[in-house]
Amino acid sequence: MSSNRDDFSPATKRSLADRVGWICSYPNCGQSTLGPDSQSEEDKINNGIAAHICAAAPGGPRYDASMTPEMRKSISNGIWMCRNHGNLVDADHSQYTVEKLIAWKTDAESAAYKRLSQPAQLLTIGYSSRDLNTLKIYCNLFNYEYLQQLKNEPFRAKVPTSIIDPLHTCMNYIGNPSYQFNAADLEKLRQELNAKVLDFNRHFGAESGGNIGYYDYVDLNLIRQRNPSRVEHYVKYIESTQQLAYEISEVALKLLTIQAETGNI
Ligand SMILES: [Zn+2]
Repeated sequence: MSSNRDDFSPATKRSLADRVGWICSYPNCGQSTLGPDSQSEEDKINNGIAAHICAAAPGGPRYDASMTPEMRKSISNGIWMCRNHGNLVDADHSQYTVEKLIAWKTDAESAAYKRLSQPAQLLTIGYSSRDLNTLKIYCNLFNYEYLQQLKNEPFRAKVPTSIIDPLHTCMNYIGNPSYQFNAADLEKLRQELNAKVLDFNRHFGAESGGNIGYYDYVDLNLIRQRNPSRVEHYVKYIESTQQLAYEISEVALKLLTIQAETGNI
């Protein structure tokens, strides 16, 4: 090792890496430089390089003779890179300018700062904006509050229209191509949801009648008086209705969870 190199201290290297979250600072590289050693339960692999913006020794790229050794070793003269890009930047024939490297460093640090508050940024990028909009429509229709009510609804003599209306709205989406997702995982959930909503509407519709503000449904008291032998049948009918409603809310909850993970609420 040549002694006239103004190398970074281990603490300076560590700070350079920490300030970009151990991600390479080369534009759009995105490579992580720290992770577990697959051969060991406790060791880690550090693949990064603290590259010099102005070279550490005379003859190196962007060497600036006017700088003091302290300036050359200081954190402001370093940029964190993956091994490939670090070697590229440090090569003697490197064409990258000081200004360009400083701009990369600034961008990489501000991207790392944004990741601190937007942990799900990468997931959002995974879905098209069209899919995110459609997801929002479904999640507004089947929001947490509604799903809670749907799960708790007893489905007796009077069922509020606020329980049934969203399910009818969902029926209107079923045959409409503009409500289809491009992403396979979302579309699979939508198909699953549609099947459950169809089942529910068929089952509920067979015993219900429209009224103002509510639907007339299974009135067990009336059935007890008029047709006691059918009570057991209708108790089971109500239980199936509750089960179908429960299944709808379970599938819809998966869409809500995905939406929460995308951060696009
Ligand atoms: Zn890189």
